[in-house]
Amino acid sequence: MPITFEVKETDLMGRIGTLKVGGKSIETPCLVPVIHPVLRDIPLAKYTEMGFGALMTNSFITYKRRREEALEKGLHKMLDYDGVIMTDSGGYQVLQYGQVDMTPSVIAEFQAAVGSDLAVTLDRPTGYSLSEEYARETMKVSLDGARETIKKFGNSATTWVGPIQGGLFDPLVRASTKALLKAGFEVLALGSPVEMMDNYLFGDLVRMIVAARRVMPYSVPLHLFGAGHPLTLPLSVALGCDTFDSASYVLFARRGRYMTERGTLILEEMTYLPCSCPTCNSTTKTDLVLMERRERVNKLSLHNLYLLRQDVLRCKEAISEGRLWDLVEERAAAHPRVMTAFVEMAKNSEWLAGGTPFLKERGLLMRSEVDEARPELAMARDHLGPIMKRRSTGAILVVPESDGPLSRSALYQQALRLMKRVPGRDVYKVHRQLGPFPAELEFVYPFTQTVSDGEVTRKQVRDAVRQLRKMGYASVVVCEKRRPETARPAS
Ligand SMILES: [Zn+2]
Repeated sequence: MPITFEVKETDLMGRIGTLKVGGKSIETPCLVPVIHPVLRDIPLAKYTEMGFGALMTNSFITYKRRREEALEKGLHKMLDYDGVIMTDSGGYQVLQYGQVDMTPSVIAEFQAAVGSDLAVTLDRPTGYSLSEEYARETMKVSLDGARETIKKFGNSATTWVGPIQGGLFDPLVRASTKALLKAGFEVLALGSPVEMMDNYLFGDLVRMIVAARRVMPYSVPLHLFGAGHPLTLPLSVALGCDTFDSASYVLFARRGRYMTERGTLILEEMTYLPCSCPTCNSTTKTDLVLMERRERVNKLSLHNLYLLRQDVLRCKEAISEGRLWDLVEERAAAHPRVMTAFVEMAKNSEWLAGGTPFLKERGLLMRSEVDEARPELAMARDHLGPIMKRRSTGAILVVPESDGPLSRSALYQQALRLMKRVPGRDVYKVHRQLGPFPAELEFVYPFTQTVSDGEVTRKQVRDAVRQLRKMGYASVVVCEKRRPETARPAS
């Protein structure tokens, strides 16, 4: 069944959108909690109450353990859930249990028959394979399964999700993505991040997402498998992933792990529960530890789920405010590996500019060297190129005292006096990140809206003068406030 995907707001490659599938709609970015087809810790009504409009369950396990019931009632009735149900093909389980009788058609026929809204075709996960040969093989097998499914069941009420494989090998990821689009898939899902997440290989994760997303049309939604980790959620959203399934909230809870936006903590080693979710509000760390295991896992799972829910909302608010970059950077400060991933993301500044609004209401915060690669600055540099033209024979270069507007500074009066004395001069202002620019552009975003701490350096002034000279100005007068000599310590 065809889907519709409407994008409302964007920042970097992240977007807030409405995905309509199977007569239901969900707002993206959207976390899709994974529920076990048989085992149930959290009542399903709780997911609806918490606002989760979509759930994921495993078709292979359902097929093996609740086949008759699922076929008779349909998934929605069987699970008593009327939101979007996404089904994973069970490719991982097939591989794990060596189920050779399970073919793409068998599982697809089952997924369609039980009324899955979004169904992943049978794939073979590449995982964190270092062998290119194996990665190529898994990519090819997954693609064959996807083609077979869409050919036989393309007209069913189920929307098929094409699984991208290839893992660490960018050319394979790109080839897989292109081939799935060509086969007619309207939603794609990027496989294999789980091992990268578990081993904190976030830089590899960024490269893999970028490889896929860069060759996808903007209008095609991308799902990221197994990505419910607060450390990387903003990053994945910023790179254009729209939906994320995650079993992490339960898996972590079973291992006694308590999620925070800065990583996971071991419950036993904690003193407090630094969270205000309903679960943490109604218990203490000591009570949790003393609880019977099943109840503790349940409570921890709920806390983890609240945390992930809050994080998705935080990403959405950041997109809406135009400060997704800042959110990713804040998260990068939590762990060196996330910082590596952030630096990796920043290498794609020009591409990220494609989804970044041309104008923003908020100032551009410059906090680190990585911020020099902000897409807003890349866009400004692009626009500045053709504008930097000599109109007179001489230039006045104003070195601002602060990031504020020139017209409100004493230097402006000085520049005006200079212009009266020596007419026919173009006035430029030095920007710490963008170099010299025509002063009349100072109210154009982001010239005055860049917020940084510190002053224009001597080197930046020298470089600016050199640049203006290169443009053909016979003379460049530097207009700046004299800085007081640094006081020397008394000897
Ligand atoms: Zn909590």
